[in-house]
Amino acid sequence: MHGLMSERPLLISAIIKHAAVYHRDTEIVSRTVEGGIHRYTYGVAERRAKRLARALLKLGIRPGDRVGTLAWNTFRHFELYYAISGIGAVCHTINPRLFNEQILYIVNHAEDRLLFVDTTFAPLIERLAPHLSPECRIIWMTEEGAEPATGLSLPGLPCHEALIRAEDEDFEWPGFDERTASSLCYTSGTTGNPKGVLYSHRSTVLHALGISLPDAISISASDAVCPVVPMFHVNAWAIPYAAPMQGAKLVLPGPRLDGQSLYRLFEAEQVTLALGVPTVWLSFEAHLSATGARCSTLHRILSGGSAVPPSMVEAFAGHGIDVRQGWGMTEMSPLGTTAALKAKHLGLDRDAQMKVKAKQGRPVFGVEMKVVDDAGQPQPYDGASMGELLVRGPWIVNGYFEDAEASAAAMDEDGWFRTGDVATIDPDGYMQIMDRRKDVIKSGGEWISSIDLENAAIAHPDVAEAAVIAVPHPRWAERPLLIVTPRADCRPQCDDLLKFLAEHFPRWMLPDDVVVLDQLPHTATGKVMKIRLREMFRSHPLPER
Ligand code: ADP
Repeated sequence: MHGLMSERPLLISAIIKHAAVYHRDTEIVSRTVEGGIHRYTYGVAERRAKRLARALLKLGIRPGDRVGTLAWNTFRHFELYYAISGIGAVCHTINPRLFNEQILYIVNHAEDRLLFVDTTFAPLIERLAPHLSPECRIIWMTEEGAEPATGLSLPGLPCHEALIRAEDEDFEWPGFDERTASSLCYTSGTTGNPKGVLYSHRSTVLHALGISLPDAISISASDAVCPVVPMFHVNAWAIPYAAPMQGAKLVLPGPRLDGQSLYRLFEAEQVTLALGVPTVWLSFEAHLSATGARCSTLHRILSGGSAVPPSMVEAFAGHGIDVRQGWGMTEMSPLGTTAALKAKHLGLDRDAQMKVKAKQGRPVFGVEMKVVDDAGQPQPYDGASMGELLVRGPWIVNGYFEDAEASAAAMDEDGWFRTGDVATIDPDGYMQIMDRRKDVIKSGGEWISSIDLENAAIAHPDVAEAAVIAVPHPRWAERPLLIVTPRADCRPQCDDLLKFLAEHFPRWMLPDDVVVLDQLPHTATGKVMKIRLREMFRSHPLPER
């Protein structure tokens, strides 16, 4: 017997409709690409998104068509999220930090019909345009008259503001199946070609509800939320959906993500909650420490995308800011787990609490996890048994866009997605990532967690960033090499660092050598590019230890 409840589809347009009615005067504030501050409300944003939706239909965009964006976190990008998905087309956000060849592959693979582009990316478009299909047309996300001068003869489409100006807002968001594709995001693909993750309206709405919960990101109508994570990286971790859904003020930082610019924006707009990768927060914290500046409203940061070093959590605690670790991936929309404490942890001392917070955390309802050994056998929740982490749930992929080979490799026969991460799960359900499968160090048959060593190294006062990689070794197969960058005016020393690490690790786990570099190579999503480091140090001579 079925229940007698309405089956209204879960559509993204319902989010902006809700915000426009119940949070009509709540603000969206953007630092624009041009440099100034722009502010308007959810009420105005919905009206402009409707005009844009009409313009897209007039340009011939139909349900299922892909519309690309190359854009920073601003109000115009926000409007596109709703205008494109709202008519049943697919909002394809593209990471401009990828290599040109990767961007071309992505745009051509997705068969984007239009590309909405921030004017700062004019040089990039000049490089790409000769290789784009003639079916793919460019629209500049700017005012009339402010379009950049390029050496290209692009077919003259109106700019973003001209499109909006030419339409009225007499438009009803169409209804359709909630399983309709809504947005597309390619993973950066450190090996092979990038792979497309195609979200649906249903997955997006359920994920936005899930991440809003108190033990997930905890978003309320009394918050001002700033996604520092870009809208071209897994939809800014879905904050552009969750903030209007919950009625939170949305503060969009545009292209300026340095410590001082963020600090000024947070103070001016009374930001209470901000989200981003550890690299961003390490430099923000360095700014607070160097200037003695205090954040008057910011009291929570959600950080993830790579392991959050406990020393960073401690440093922010000293500024009165609580850092919560989140874990996920593009294939998971992205949020899977957070390291929020349980009631049983509240009475523990700081060190014991920190051990919990340093894990990647327990799942948001909807996300199922298991760790399996090489034979595919599930491992116990004992906090020690390691294996590959598999996940499934309503906002987790079941295949990649137009890529049967990658889909078959990623999914098992029961619909579990192979994350490619090696992890443990403890009896309380807290998962801990030991390494990405391809970053694992196996020395004399034993695993050494590069993440554990990096977290410890970064706590040294001379170290700004740290990476540990495997270097081939004739006797042990692989041995760890520590690569660090110095903090301002510091000169980290090998022996000193090894002594520091020896307080936390058995001798056989300690790196065989330490290399100091001015900077580490980063991927387009702000993670240390270990593949590049492994190439650089493949034949690094390790001293006998
Ligand atoms: P990309 O590889 O393109 O950066 P994602 O942004 O989807 O792709 O990142 C997924 C990877 O980042 C996964 O291997 C995942 O385990 C890792 N990751 C995400 N959050 C954390 C975290 N808090 N700690 C450790 N690893 C993390």
